[in-house]
Amino acid sequence: MHSADVAIVGGGVIGWSVAFHLVEGGFDGRVLVIEPDPSFESGSTGRSAGGLRQQFSLPENIRMSRYGLDFVRQAPARLAVDGEAPDLAFKEQGYLFLAPESGMAALTENQAVQTAEGADVALLDRDGLAEIFPWLALDDLAGGAFGRSGEGWLDPYALMQALKRKARSLGAELLQDRVTGIEIAGGRVEALTTEAGRRVACGRLVNAAGAAAGRVAALAGLDLPVAPKKRQVFVFDCREDLAHLPLTVDPSGVYFRPEGAQFICGKSPDPQDDPDCWDDLVDYTLFEEVLWPTLAARVPAFEAIKMQSAWAGWYEVNTLDHNAVIGPHPQVETFLFANGFSGHGLQQAPAVGRAIAELIETGGFRSLDLSRLGYARIAAGAPLFERGIV
Ligand SMILES: Cc1cc2nc3c(=O)[nH]c(=O)nc-3n(C[C@H](O)[C@H](O)[C@H](O)COP(=O)(O)OP(=O)(O)OC[C@H]3O[C@@H](n4cnc5c(N)ncnc54)[C@H](O)[C@@H]3O)c2cc1C
Repeated sequence: MHSADVAIVGGGVIGWSVAFHLVEGGFDGRVLVIEPDPSFESGSTGRSAGGLRQQFSLPENIRMSRYGLDFVRQAPARLAVDGEAPDLAFKEQGYLFLAPESGMAALTENQAVQTAEGADVALLDRDGLAEIFPWLALDDLAGGAFGRSGEGWLDPYALMQALKRKARSLGAELLQDRVTGIEIAGGRVEALTTEAGRRVACGRLVNAAGAAAGRVAALAGLDLPVAPKKRQVFVFDCREDLAHLPLTVDPSGVYFRPEGAQFICGKSPDPQDDPDCWDDLVDYTLFEEVLWPTLAARVPAFEAIKMQSAWAGWYEVNTLDHNAVIGPHPQVETFLFANGFSGHGLQQAPAVGRAIAELIETGGFRSLDLSRLGYARIAAGAPLFERGIV
């Protein structure tokens, strides 16, 4: 029989960040990550758009992203193994949220919270937009909020691989298998069982199973409202050189940004058209009927674009409030959640890994107080809403 002091279910960016922060901090015990996919590509991390921003409405989300930013900047030194530094390809080109008149009050309130947290976000009126972003069609806009520094995008797979490599170099272990059962006794996790017939006794279990987190919680008889929701990303070429653009979010919810010499774009569906979904088939009509017309109306240079490829992945949506669930279950305290990031988990991975490591090692949050993101609100059905969902 195997055993682990901390068993982490899921080897995506969250699972490896938890493992890394534990072993980097000198955790005195066996840290085991259990992941069935040897390519590590099928989860949300490998299909992410890699955005990192400060433009959220909740202070906790801003603070987590700010640690994410520090971490990404320090990564070449902090995640180097045998003198080899990872290249996370961080492009600090900012996020630009656009708004019509009716959206300006929310942007203004959010910007005040972001600025109070130390974020470098400027509120712009239409003239300000015209001056900095001459490629935009402005007719229906009243203004926007632009992250002048500390925002951009990185290579999600490179971050996950760098965390994995460093965590393993410091002693974290990997078991290639799928967790199929979780045994609970006396209000504690006793062991997990796997597809290959293993039984792993565990001191603590961290649910880092991404879009499958609800299923993994259910294996322990616990309720977690996290569901897989399909998100599609389309890659296109544009003849004009607009490689300096920020990640721009149109009031319609359509977003676009440069990706090397090309661009990517996407849009989350309306809630009534967003079923739970495990397939990753691309619906090309989304590009033809929704994305392209919106892109061409917002950026005249995008009238002549050519779609090149596309992929789909899953947001791990917390259907209560689109926010993370971080920390122990109140009745089964050795079962810890690191779930429900609803599309912003890549940038939150460093802060979540650190928070879970602190909970395990000290019994409480130390660097950032994330108690409002704990399971208590799930049990009480009391949502904590984030306005800045893309
Ligand atoms: C299209 C798209 C765009 C995105 N854009 C952004 C963005 O711009 N910025 C941002 O911050 N975030 C973004 N995200 C969200 C971000 O990618 C996720 O929040 C993050 O990757 C979640 O990481 P994870 O480790 O929790 O999940 P995953 O990467 O999905 O890892 C979970 C792992 O658990 C494993 N697993 C599942 N069940 C079991 C089991 N029973 N036993 C063992 N292992 C199991 C899976 O194989 C998987 O590898 C985006 C996501 C998508 C899909």
